[in-house]
Amino acid sequence: MNVLIIFAHPERHSLNGALLEVAVAELKGLGHDVQVSDLYAMQWKAAVDRADFPDLGPDERLKVASASSREFAADGLTDDVKAEQDKLHWADTVIFQFPLWWFAMPAILKGWVDRVYACGFAYGVGEHSDRRWGDRYGEGMMAGKRAMLIVTAGGWPEHYSERGINGQIDDLLFPINHGILFYPGFTVLPPFVAYRVDRLDDTRFRTVADELRERMRTLQTRLPIPYRKQNGGEYQIPTMELKPGLETSGAVRFALHVAEPKLR
Ligand code: FAD
Repeated sequence: MNVLIIFAHPERHSLNGALLEVAVAELKGLGHDVQVSDLYAMQWKAAVDRADFPDLGPDERLKVASASSREFAADGLTDDVKAEQDKLHWADTVIFQFPLWWFAMPAILKGWVDRVYACGFAYGVGEHSDRRWGDRYGEGMMAGKRAMLIVTAGGWPEHYSERGINGQIDDLLFPINHGILFYPGFTVLPPFVAYRVDRLDDTRFRTVADELRERMRTLQTRLPIPYRKQNGGEYQIPTMELKPGLETSGAVRFALHVAEPKLR
């Protein structure tokens, strides 16, 4: 299996750096091929701007989606973006690894998504008509590939529980898991989240590392989050609302889009 890890931490001598080494060693030990995109080490350009679209005329107004669509179709995107897209095609499984910063991914990783997820590549794929909103949410260029998050958080697990002050972790990660991974077609595995990490002692580090090794060993077998597919007949056209009566008992908001209770 080919595994691509998109790593977003500015310091390799960090907890995240140590966990990256754990994950890579385990995956290689299992015989998998691994590539790491270490975004800070690569000095990844995070902001989308005119430089991303070399064919854009100097006086032409930048409309990001249409410029992206045009450059992607003409194979004219910048080399750094094309290299990441090639890695995504190569990968069977993609992992985003990052510390939770302000309840979200670090800006450099969001910038990777903004630039690499071109129109025609990650969105704007398939038929768009009054009958269909394209190939997305379970279909698309990344269909058949698995993806998961490795996240470290300073907060306690209780802070991220159902009644926790920070909001439930599944809700906070929904825009990434559902919006960034499921949207272009990935099958999304439950995230690996290490909590309360800021004063981690060696004993707890060993526990977290063991849990992460287990998650690496079960990448191919773990049950995914059962998000509902857009084109699976459960959403009304063209409003894309879940049809009445299909929700799992008690589910509201984000949880509406999960077909059954998560199995972990
Ligand atoms: P490090 O700082 O590198 O290490 C953390 C601990 O692990 C240290 O005790 C260190 O000694 C130990 N450690 C490191 N490497 C090893 C090793 N090899 N072996 C054994 N022990 C080791 N948290 C939230 O919960 N929610 C937020 O919204 C949030 N926002 C943040 C925003 C910012 C800007 C910042 C800076 C932090 C935020 N945090 C938040 C906390 C953040 O999530 C954690 O600081 C981060 O996840 C820790 O990961 P790290 O790799 O940077 O850890």
